[in-house]
Amino acid sequence: MTTITLPAYAKLNLTLDILGRRADGYHDLCMVMQSISLHDDVTVTLTDADSIVCRCGMLPGDDSNLAVKAAKAFFTETGIVPRGLLIDIEKRIPMQAGMAGGSTDAAAVMHALRALLAPELTTQKLEAIGAQVGSDVPYCVRGGTVLAERRGEKLTTLNAAPRFRVVVCKPDFSISTPVLFNHSDSVALLDHPDTDGMLHAIEERDVLGISARVFNVFEQVLTDEQTEVFDIKDQLITLGASATAMTGSGSAVFGLFTESGQAQLAFHNLRQHYQQTYLAEFI
Ligand code: ATP
Repeated sequence: MTTITLPAYAKLNLTLDILGRRADGYHDLCMVMQSISLHDDVTVTLTDADSIVCRCGMLPGDDSNLAVKAAKAFFTETGIVPRGLLIDIEKRIPMQAGMAGGSTDAAAVMHALRALLAPELTTQKLEAIGAQVGSDVPYCVRGGTVLAERRGEKLTTLNAAPRFRVVVCKPDFSISTPVLFNHSDSVALLDHPDTDGMLHAIEERDVLGISARVFNVFEQVLTDEQTEVFDIKDQLITLGASATAMTGSGSAVFGLFTESGQAQLAFHNLRQHYQQTYLAEFI
């Protein structure tokens, strides 16, 4: 086998809490993450060249691409002799959305390289390599319903959450992650998610309990220019969502639905105003 294509799934934050700032400048986080069916397609092909070529839509395929970083980290950390690679990424996940689009491509590249070159490597080892590529990469390697702590590298797999339908809508503006973290350091964060309650609700597969605890601490520090996030949340609730939140550092907003007909209606409604609107489900 010299080529493999894998789906690279997007993630949502069902909860996002900031526990504090660390001495190394990063933040200690506590997040319940969920994979959804919206995905990029990542094809990795072994070639006879002595370089890595990456084609990724409009994005540069150089070392700034997380997929390339992941391939290089894979070879360095496993000691496997580097191979020529062609990495083709068909992007569907919106960028700068808080959906880990780059991190999930990186994770898919590592899964592909394991399948092609080192099937004996453990997932734990892949996650450890992923932690060097980006904070969200270990989670993307694992996927599913997961509690992510510290910078995001301490992972605990949870029972699979019930299969909510999801409508994701990304407004035209993006939000800078470092600016958002700085802003959250400078104000008192009054509200925090009930993470323990969320973990219990997931354990019990309690749809209402999960919906009641969807919460992102970053929503408290959005600026007046970013209030469209709340407009979209309001629209999703009016259209029948059982819960809404911004995911990660935004700017995408999602609504959870228990009825697929309602989710479809909400998708078509929001799509009229927002080009980057997606219909998906938990996986
Ligand atoms: P996160 O939820 O991890 O914060 P995000 O959705 O906010 O992710 P991404 O879209 O994953 O952000 O990527 C942010 C930046 O990373 C992009 O602006 C892009 O320049 C860079 N990047 C590098 N590699 C990729 C990739 N393969 N796909 C998307 N973005 C990438």
